[in-house]
Amino acid sequence: MSQEELQNENINKIITIINKAIKKCPLYEQQQNYLLESRKIVLFNEALKDQISKCQDEIRLLQKELAQPSKKLRRKAIEISKKYKCSNCEKNYGSEASLNLHCKIKHTFSETDSKTQIDHSFQI
Ligand SMILES: [Zn+2]
Repeated sequence: MSQEELQNENINKIITIINKAIKKCPLYEQQQNYLLESRKIVLFNEALKDQISKCQDEIRLLQKELAQPSKKLRRKAIEISKKYKCSNCEKNYGSEASLNLHCKIKHTFSETDSKTQIDHSFQI
């Protein structure tokens, strides 16, 4: 008998022993293919291991990014939606703070002009 045949015989013996033991279990169901079910579980475990290692890779990447706070990720100008429109000119900004800064720098004079105009209109 070759070594391969001997190995197969041993495996068959083990399967026979396991099958006998399974049939003695109180929850044993005859229509269930336990060998197939155990293979499914092995495959499912492999898929889970794969997902776990992917998550661990992501965690490592995120920890690297956190460890380097100087490298701040900035959005590109195209990615920012510029919903804050200047009422004095055609400029658009991504935040109220940016728009306010723009107005302070570019339109300070016209703003005070309009304010003084309003003040005058209240005078009788
Ligand atoms: Zn403006």
